[in-house]
Amino acid sequence: MSAHDPNCIFCKIVAGQIPSKKVYEDEDIYAFHDINPWAPVHFLLVPRRHIPSMAQIGAEHERLMGRMLTLAPRLALEQGCNPYPEGGFRIVCNTGLEGGQEVHHLHVHVMGGPRPWARG
Ligand code: 5GP
Ligand code: ZN
Repeated sequence: MSAHDPNCIFCKIVAGQIPSKKVYEDEDIYAFHDINPWAPVHFLLVPRRHIPSMAQIGAEHERLMGRMLTLAPRLALEQGCNPYPEGGFRIVCNTGLEGGQEVHHLHVHVMGGPRPWARG
């Protein structure tokens, strides 16, 4: 699979071809605010390389996925989520059509801030 899919909106965001509000970046990961937030804090963590979804994740992605999930709590606090346990955040990774995925470039939603906002 190529590192960049020219038709992928998140590849274009990672490449700076579509503007986004950056939360964090390093050599493997880019994080940015969701354009249509469900919560007072709502950002997305994506791998720079194009991976369509969690369904394509294998052992070779253990370090990448570990780093994305390890970043989430730190970035959540930096972006204004309140501390655990009164605060906290929600992590969602929609996968495939039946999983509610609309953009087919793997992304981890991190949502938080004062309720009410959460579904379910
Ligand atoms: P999914 O349903 O695939 O899990 O979520 C895709 C998310 O990407 C949605 O929450 C949507 O608001 C967000 N999104 C889609 N297009 C853009 C965009 O161009 N810029 C930003 N910042 N977010 C986007
Ligand atoms: Zn992509």
